[in-house]
Amino acid sequence: MTRPYLGNPKYTIEVLQKYNFAFQKRFGQNFLIDTHVLEKIIEASQITKDDFVLEIGPGIGTMTQYLAEAAREVVAVEIDKTLIPILENDTLKDWDNVTVINEDILKVDIAALAQEKNGGKPIKVVANLPYYITTPIIMGLFENHVPISSITIMVQKEVADRMQVGPGTKDYGALSLAVQYYAKPQIIANVPPNCFMPRPKVGSAVIQLVRYEEPPVQVENEKLMFRLIRASFNQRRKTLVNGLKNSQELDFSKEEIEKAMAETGIPVNVRGEALTLKEFADLANAFHKLR
Ligand code: SAM
Repeated sequence: MTRPYLGNPKYTIEVLQKYNFAFQKRFGQNFLIDTHVLEKIIEASQITKDDFVLEIGPGIGTMTQYLAEAAREVVAVEIDKTLIPILENDTLKDWDNVTVINEDILKVDIAALAQEKNGGKPIKVVANLPYYITTPIIMGLFENHVPISSITIMVQKEVADRMQVGPGTKDYGALSLAVQYYAKPQIIANVPPNCFMPRPKVGSAVIQLVRYEEPPVQVENEKLMFRLIRASFNQRRKTLVNGLKNSQELDFSKEEIEKAMAETGIPVNVRGEALTLKEFADLANAFHKLR
């Protein structure tokens, strides 16, 4: 059998039947059954034999087989314990450069993993993500300062759009700003539901986030900027001033808020959703100077 082989639906069905596997909705299990999509993901991620790759949610190992062929080493983190024997004893047994970890990705210290497996050098993350935790996974990777060169992921189409847009659109939010502060997003492919088993109810897209060496704006205190961003979007319908005043995460007085806004030239009646990344950065720097 030529390797990798699992992208072929025939083999996927064979494996599922052999192990009497029952899909778990709560884990967002939609396995890829389209070799063209798999090849596109691998091509876009530009993996070489020097690379260490982290895969989140290998499922039955469909994409893991491709990653193992291309990379020096792969670690695949899978929450569903019923998949572990399938991966270890069957679908991945021919590759000696793959380690499967049975864990919730949100509980894994990925920075420590990158240190251990890649000497702290930037890693590549590739995944067909479980859609119910897309945002915490991405925010966790960025905010914990995991050394990363790129993230190539399948996400819900709408979420891919959210990562790319700027102010003035309904999709613009905290995720757009976080992604665009840390990385350059680019949609690689739109993927219809029939490329998965079972078919998801929503459209999907592969998006690549290439990490900036230097963020596009200068911020003295990143944590403060993200607190300001969260406060603005938690209350989208309110003015920025009210959003900041009502935030549980911030304790600036009305006078301080008005002073910081005056300093940056942002009008007091503006809504947070109208601000660009640069304006949030300027505002964060003005608040930082106040204290
Ligand atoms: N990579 C496989 C593919 O493309 O066919 C499976 C992708 S499926 C969309 C998402 C996978 O993530 C499932 O195998 C699911 O069990 C796993 N998963 C869900 N939540 C997880 C979590 N918190 N940590 C690690 N894996 C998780």
